[in-house]
Amino acid sequence: MVLTHEPALFYALAALLGACFGSFSNVLIHRLPRNLSIVRPRSACPACARPVEWHENIPVLSWLALRGRCRGCAAPIALRYLLVELGGVACALVGVWSFGFGFAGLSASLLLLLLLDIALIDWEHMIIPHTLTIAGAVIGLGGSFLDGRDPASAFLGAAVGAGGVLAVSWGYRLVRGVVGMGGGDVMLMGMVGSFLGPWGVLGTLFGGALAGTAYALLAGRGRVVGGAKLPFGTFLAAAAAVVLLFGPRLAAWYLGLAA
Ligand SMILES: [Zn+2]
Repeated sequence: MVLTHEPALFYALAALLGACFGSFSNVLIHRLPRNLSIVRPRSACPACARPVEWHENIPVLSWLALRGRCRGCAAPIALRYLLVELGGVACALVGVWSFGFGFAGLSASLLLLLLLDIALIDWEHMIIPHTLTIAGAVIGLGGSFLDGRDPASAFLGAAVGAGGVLAVSWGYRLVRGVVGMGGGDVMLMGMVGSFLGPWGVLGTLFGGALAGTAYALLAGRGRVVGGAKLPFGTFLAAAAAVVLLFGPRLAAWYLGLAA
């Protein structure tokens, strides 16, 4: 992680780009799990079907200007739309702040954004769309040739991520499924590996299992409910973001404990 101190204009541009990606994320989060096209039709108010004009579709600002209500019928526009747009801004700023204004910062920002979308979709629908994970893996593998990572580690990470989760899911099934993992998780970890390499896969699985188990215990009031479905992808996505931003420091701390 390289902290960068570039002119404010650079951050403003990154924030703007992040807001646009966040706005597109709202489309992805709504339409992908419902198997709807992400290009057509144009966005419309779900209450009155009034199409959203271009000037009502400006990330963050439009929601605030409209005070979260449709201009046609005054039906409320979910706060989540604003929050996801702000989430896009946060992903872009954290990415470039941590990895600089170059391909490395771009890769980090895109990974954070993909993880945000996947976390929200899996939480709500218990689905991880292959469209996102495959596109993500292509970006992760292709980006490794541009952003200073080792391409061999990216390809190995993708293989270890997808293959590892397949093995783990068979293992869990043997111990009567505390945390079930499906094809979506396999593809998600392939994508994570393409960005974070084989060690990142290990850290993400460890962190995701820890967070998922803690959540299952809390939600089940102290006992893990067998067969209860858990949006495991959400926990994996959160863990992958932590590994991206703090991986080396956490590994050093953990190894220090063991020594
Ligand atoms: Zn309306």
